[in-house]
Amino acid sequence: MSSKIFSNDWKWQIANRIASRAQLEEYINLTAGERAAFEGEIPLSFAVTPHYAGLIRKSEALRKTVIPTAAENRVGTGELADPLGEENHRATPHLIHTYPDKVLFLATTFCSTYCRYCTRSRMVGKPLAFDVSTFDETFRYIEEHTEIRDVLISGGDPLTMTDSVLEELLSRVRNIPHVRMVRIGSKVPVVLPQRITDELCSVLRKHRVWLSLHFIHADELSPETQSACRKLSDHGIGMVSQTVLLKGVNDDTPSLVNLFYGLLEINVKPYYLLQCDPVQGSEHFRTTVEKGIQLIQSLHGHICGLAVPQYVIDAPGGGGKVPILGKEQIRREGDDVVFLNYLGKEYRYPDPL
Ligand SMILES: *Cc1c(COP(=O)(O)O)cnc(C)c1O
Ligand code: SF4
Repeated sequence: MSSKIFSNDWKWQIANRIASRAQLEEYINLTAGERAAFEGEIPLSFAVTPHYAGLIRKSEALRKTVIPTAAENRVGTGELADPLGEENHRATPHLIHTYPDKVLFLATTFCSTYCRYCTRSRMVGKPLAFDVSTFDETFRYIEEHTEIRDVLISGGDPLTMTDSVLEELLSRVRNIPHVRMVRIGSKVPVVLPQRITDELCSVLRKHRVWLSLHFIHADELSPETQSACRKLSDHGIGMVSQTVLLKGVNDDTPSLVNLFYGLLEINVKPYYLLQCDPVQGSEHFRTTVEKGIQLIQSLHGHICGLAVPQYVIDAPGGGGKVPILGKEQIRREGDDVVFLNYLGKEYRYPDPL
């Protein structure tokens, strides 16, 4: 293991990303299984920032979320490349319009660190089959659809874009009078906390952006991540979290309680606990829905209400996120769990026992 000199500059962190087995082995000792996974072609994009590599060195939980394993080559029952049916709802090259009043703006396909369970692994870090050279068509679509009140900018990770690109994107969206809510979905405060500069905070504050931050485990709450979130909070930026429920990573009550209290302590409100989407190669990460219900019921009433997120299944095929509170809401049909979405329409989630 080398003793690398870390730079606290976010562009250095991106330029020095770990993107091969050889680079990874400079930071950690791989198991035989992990080493073997790099032998063939890795189906999902791979990259880790030096900052996050420092965390996985000390955390078995985090390690599983970013290091490839052979298991991701297997396509399990009901798994799809596009589990949420986003491509059927793609309104423009950059826009997914699934819900009535809100849109998902996919501003980039780049992430500084790639998660092995990513619901958009079909596109993140990959060459695209369609033209995304300009946002113009997307701005026009939002302008013409006056029913859109809520724009969630995601990707990839939008906070890996430069301040000037973000400034332009946010001012164009904020100039649309019927848009009332602008959010950015990001894992940057966790994997690239150096990116949270005063200049970036000013851009976010100017456009009254809420952040929806991706956190998996309390081991991600490094001193750097805590100060990044405190800085965002000091600048008046509202923050919520999204956590994917992952087998062997965070699927136990103490791990969730630790994470959710840790988030409240840095002014991030736990928002969603997401049942893991049936994306290709994710079977080893998925818990049963029954387990998810047990876990969320172990939190409701037992801990601070503010620390409890909503447990949701994102209905495969594009039915939207469905909050699940108890067993009464679901029924089992063979390998599927069946439930109703917000429009009363039936959806199924593959959940082989
Ligand atoms: C999650 C999601 C949103 C935002 O949903 P909220 O429940 O308001 O957080 C919007 N569009 C799509 C396609 C989504 O998947
Ligand atoms: S940060 Fe989000 S978009 Fe990027 S790889 Fe992870 S889950 Fe996917």
